[in-house]
Amino acid sequence: MNKSYNAFKMAQQQFDSIAEHLSLDQGTRSLLRVPMREYHVNIPVKMDDGTVEVFNGFRCQHNDALGPGKGGIRFHPLETIDTVRALSMWMTWKCSVVDIPLGGSKGGVVCDPHHLSTGEQERICRGYMRQIAGALGPVRDVPAPDVMTSAQHMLWMMDEYETITGGKYPGVITGKPVGLGGSLGRTEATGFGVVFTLREALKELNISPSETTASIQGFGNVAQYAIQLFIQLGGTVTCVSCWDQNEAKSFAFSKKDGINLDELRSITDHFGGIDKEKAQDLGYEVLPGEAWIEQSVDILIPAALENQITAENVSKISRSVKIIAEAANGPTTPEADQVLKERGIFVIPDFLANAGGVTCSYFEQVQNNMNYYWEKDEVISKLDIKMTSAFMAVSGLARKNNLFMRDAAYIISVNRVAEACKLRGWT
Ligand code: NAD
Repeated sequence: MNKSYNAFKMAQQQFDSIAEHLSLDQGTRSLLRVPMREYHVNIPVKMDDGTVEVFNGFRCQHNDALGPGKGGIRFHPLETIDTVRALSMWMTWKCSVVDIPLGGSKGGVVCDPHHLSTGEQERICRGYMRQIAGALGPVRDVPAPDVMTSAQHMLWMMDEYETITGGKYPGVITGKPVGLGGSLGRTEATGFGVVFTLREALKELNISPSETTASIQGFGNVAQYAIQLFIQLGGTVTCVSCWDQNEAKSFAFSKKDGINLDELRSITDHFGGIDKEKAQDLGYEVLPGEAWIEQSVDILIPAALENQITAENVSKISRSVKIIAEAANGPTTPEADQVLKERGIFVIPDFLANAGGVTCSYFEQVQNNMNYYWEKDEVISKLDIKMTSAFMAVSGLARKNNLFMRDAAYIISVNRVAEACKLRGWT
């Protein structure tokens, strides 16, 4: 996590400029630029060696005017309250832009699962839930998996919640394993959603996917499924990058005629780290991590972490790049964003591009409520419809008023939330 830029300041800066554009009243601005509620917890955990370690955790509920809060829980050694605040705000805009009846929340625990046993991770999950259960619930605030948390982590948390409350509440958390309240298609949803919006952007620019190349930062859940669908549409991915835990730095893996997804998956650990030596044996050129951004491709997809396209590296983006599909949350700093705007690059903003995950989480909740589960094709086609119509609304407004895509997306989503606050009588 790049700490040089404060993600919360960045989220507030983005909001302030849209609030100004929309001439929002002072009360609405004051309410929407901070989370409505924040929880800070210290979780005592018995480690395998018999010692007790205390882990810091957070949950921020930014705004629930449109419905119960929704947002992932991240496990990361550099997690901060400000990152969680920013991400909770982005969740509010994300749910709003895809027009689902949910608000914005986010959670995090400062820990590094690379150095924790399975049992220790389970005890962190259960300890976190014990501290925060009162603030959560299917009609209150609903967590989901995020960076370095999985369906297993969600299930431990759900189990702890049900133990505390004494009932069965699968809707308290999403991203659960299929068969235990999870939805088919959830694993693919975020990456596929990115490519549904990318497909529409290419249509708008009159470019056939089969003529395009892409370079991607990250090779985790989101990146892998984005790559899968992009290749299915005929595109070629020439470069991916990932974090190398042993060397504590990132590397990029390039193949000019296109990476082979299955081959790379087979040499990748479950944190999305690619084995360097094996990749070299398979003919991949191994480059420094930053190389992903310098590739002469048509499309860049940052799919790792926030603050990755910055004032320092934005000039390295090749003239060939036409589209940036922001799969990660907050990958572009406002300074870099200004440069992308001036260069006329078509940016699909994060909270639109990566809204597939939360949209499918919403479908998961709907299925939990019905206690009836859809086939995978049904989930994916419903997801396509939601993502495509959200993209159309944003790009329609952008074209009509000659706006940058991020500004158009913000205008739509902030307007909806501000209106809901007003109608509820909050502002
Ligand atoms: P993940 O943990 O599965 O994968 C992260 C990937 O990024 C890994 O391949 C890791 O090696 C790589 N990475 C980490 N630091 C890096 C660096 N400095 N340089 C290059 N690569 C680096 O996470 P994910 O679920 O794929 O999430 C990726 C991004 O998408 C995050 O910003 C997350 O908040 C966002 N997101 C995820 C979801 C979801 O459903 N998983 C939904 C919306 C947004």
